[in-house]
This record gives sequence, C-alpha cells and structure tokens, in this order.
Amino acid sequence: MAIERTLSIIKPDATARNITGRIITKLEDAGLRIIAQKRVRWRTSEAQKFYEVHKERPFYDDLVAFMTSGPIVLQVLEGEDAVARNREVMGATNPADAAPGTIRAEFAESIERNSVHGSDSPENAAKEIALCFSDDEIVG
Ligand code: GDP
Repeated sequence: MAIERTLSIIKPDATARNITGRIITKLEDAGLRIIAQKRVRWRTSEAQKFYEVHKERPFYDDLVAFMTSGPIVLQVLEGEDAVARNREVMGATNPADAAPGTIRAEFAESIERNSVHGSDSPENAAKEIALCFSDDEIVG
C-alpha cells in the first residue's frame, strides 16, 4: 500500500459541540497522521469553490450556508492508503447508514451536519489540499 495524503475537514456542527479532539483521536487511532492543520472560518466564496462539483445538487446552497456557519478545522492527513482509510473511519455520508464506531455514526447530527469531510480519491485529495494549504503550511 502506498503512503498517501488526503484532505480532512472537521465541520461546523462538530466545532460548535467542542468535539474536535474526539474526532482527531479517531483519525489518529486509524493510523492517520495530521501533517497540517488550521482552524478557519470560510467565506461564502471559499465554500462555493470547494464544493463546486456539487453546484447542480439540490442541497448545494444549504451546504455552503452550513459550511460557513461557524469555524472549521482543515487538515492534511498522511498514512498508508490514507484516502480510503479516512473514508472508512468517517463512515457513510448519512449517519443512519454509517457503520458502528465510525465518526459519523458516533457524532453526526444529520446527512448534512455530518461532522467531517474527506477527499474521495487521490486526485481530488491533491486538488483539495492545494486549494486549502500552501506548501509551507504542510510541516510533517
Ligand atoms: P461525502 O463525500 O460523504 O461528504 O458526501 P458527498 O460528497 O455526496 O456530499 C458532500 C456533503 O454534502 C456531505 O458530506 C453532506 O454534508 C452534504 N450532503 C450530501 N447529501 C446531502 C443531502 O441529501 N442533503 C443535504 N442537506 N446535504 C447533503
């Protein structure tokens, strides 16, 4: 298995409930290393750009409003098979379908307020990391 990087976001529903540490523990316990991290609040234009692939979806405007409703934590995770491993520890998009023990099963409030984002392919991971971090912010 290759060492990969993936972009992770701890979403506003989780920062509001002060559970970033509990989510980070799940990521680290899954063998993922946080090699860059920052807490930010996105402007509408930043959320729109990040979720551009979803702009035709009916939930796009709601998603942008949610992702700008409070602070988020942006992370670059590194590890073996990091993209798939992170998706596994996140659980399914809808917490009702998420496997027991996953972040979304334990912490998500709804299909929208589902606590975390994770890149869905190595190609998208590279794009999302470049969108959210400069090279000198990725410190290992
Ligand atoms: P993910 O890769 O598991 O995050 O899922 P998607 O890429 O399909 O969707 C991106 C994000 O949009 C999800 O994480 C949710 O926050 C939100 N979302 C997805 N599906 C729905 C939906 O049917 N309704 C609403 N309101 N939000 C959704």
